[in-house]
Amino acid sequence: MAHVVIVGASTGGLPAAYELRDALDNNHRVSVVSNTPIFHFVPSNPWVAVGWRKREQISFELAPVLENKGIHFYDSGVKEIEAQYNRLTLADGTSLSYDYLVVATGPKLSFDEIEGFGPEGFTESICTIDHAEDAYDSWRSFLKDPGPIVVGAVQGASCFGPAYEFAMIMNRALRKAKLRHRVPITFVTPEPYIGHMGLGGVGDSKGLFESEFRQNDIKWITNARVKKVESGKMLVEEVDDKAETIKTHQLPFNYSMLIPAFKGVDCVAGLGDEMVNPRGFLKVDDYQRSPVYPNIYGVGVCIAIPPIEATALPVGAPKTGYMIESMTRATVNNIKAAVEGREPDSQPSWNAICLADLGHTGAAFVAEPQIPPRNVAWMKKGHWVQWAKIAFEKYFLFKMKRGLSEPKVERKILNLLGIKLLK
Ligand SMILES: Cc1cc2nc3c(=O)[nH]c(=O)nc-3n(C[C@H](O)[C@H](O)[C@H](O)COP(=O)(O)OP(=O)(O)OC[C@H]3O[C@@H](n4cnc5c(N)ncnc54)[C@H](O)[C@@H]3O)c2cc1C
Repeated sequence: MAHVVIVGASTGGLPAAYELRDALDNNHRVSVVSNTPIFHFVPSNPWVAVGWRKREQISFELAPVLENKGIHFYDSGVKEIEAQYNRLTLADGTSLSYDYLVVATGPKLSFDEIEGFGPEGFTESICTIDHAEDAYDSWRSFLKDPGPIVVGAVQGASCFGPAYEFAMIMNRALRKAKLRHRVPITFVTPEPYIGHMGLGGVGDSKGLFESEFRQNDIKWITNARVKKVESGKMLVEEVDDKAETIKTHQLPFNYSMLIPAFKGVDCVAGLGDEMVNPRGFLKVDDYQRSPVYPNIYGVGVCIAIPPIEATALPVGAPKTGYMIESMTRATVNNIKAAVEGREPDSQPSWNAICLADLGHTGAAFVAEPQIPPRNVAWMKKGHWVQWAKIAFEKYFLFKMKRGLSEPKVERKILNLLGIKLLK
């Protein structure tokens, strides 16, 4: 009997747990350790921050769903991974042994790298539901006393989609409230150009986002390094391609949200230089396994992937939902193979597919492969993207709340339609 433990129960970890439970015989044990008792749908956080979604609409308690599915659940979080002993120390002091470990812990948010930055300083965050709820409290106060907004991402960030989305969502919310004329918006980003997104651009993402920003009176500063944030004031250096400062901006703001740089969470970063990169992300091979301990797999934002290209300021490559899904699929197949004594043979595709809500419209991207030049670099704008994003939110939450793994849901839908194409 093998014991498979998944650490983290979000976009990467929860589908991995369901799929592993469905893929492995019942004599094998599957457990999940999370440091939060709930699942929440991270891509909906920008909507929470302007009051378009409430916590209860995008989250649910993990324990009953996991128990019902025959998966053991520990909600105290992992303090330490003792890779050499195949053992975890949980935050409550107890130990948990594993035969296979799936690390799906997401990022640690590096607000501490810039003075005054983040929810404990002077800017908001939408990275977690707790942050998004606090951001909504500040948003309501802001609407009573509107003024300049600074939005975007800081040097070292890799998750640019939500920054663009949030700029456009706030733009839309302000127009609806008839307050947009009182709010100058500046988009600040370390990207070398608007629409780079850590991907070297996708199709004409530069043209599309610049045009959207121009049409919606959003100014921007690219190659921007945030030096310091104070109450209502941000010091930003604009750099040239050698990262030398060419201009300094003092940006006043009444409201600000910038996506931080990410690093590995403590229990992953603590694995040591051989297993993690300098930012504390887990190194994995082509089969999602640690090259040092091949019974440890990594899925989602917690894994190390190099930037797409050199830029003046550090700009990371994003790890988006579709890529994470392909990492999950490969991990599940390879653990099943290992449990059955076979060699792993499943590799993730790591293609980037993304749906972005732009407030009054939406934009969809497909980048295949993620690193240019690409076979597919496709980008389209339209209301259908917003509808597709909302439909996906409902579909994903439906499936996660019921403990359904992907193939089963697809089979159910196809069966409902009377099409029995899948075995
Ligand atoms: C605001 C926002 C919007 C996004 N929107 C999109 C989008 O529209 N489309 C898209 O493709 N991608 C989007 N992304 C990118 C990506 O898909 C998400 O970040 C995704 O949630 C990452 O999944 P993950 O499971 O790797 O990490 P996370 O979602 O961060 O989950 C990690 C989980 O591990 C838990 N954890 C951490 N440490 C421990 C520990 N020590 N012990 C136990 N548990 C632990 C955390 O609490 C968390 O629940 C978005 C990202 C953000 C931040």
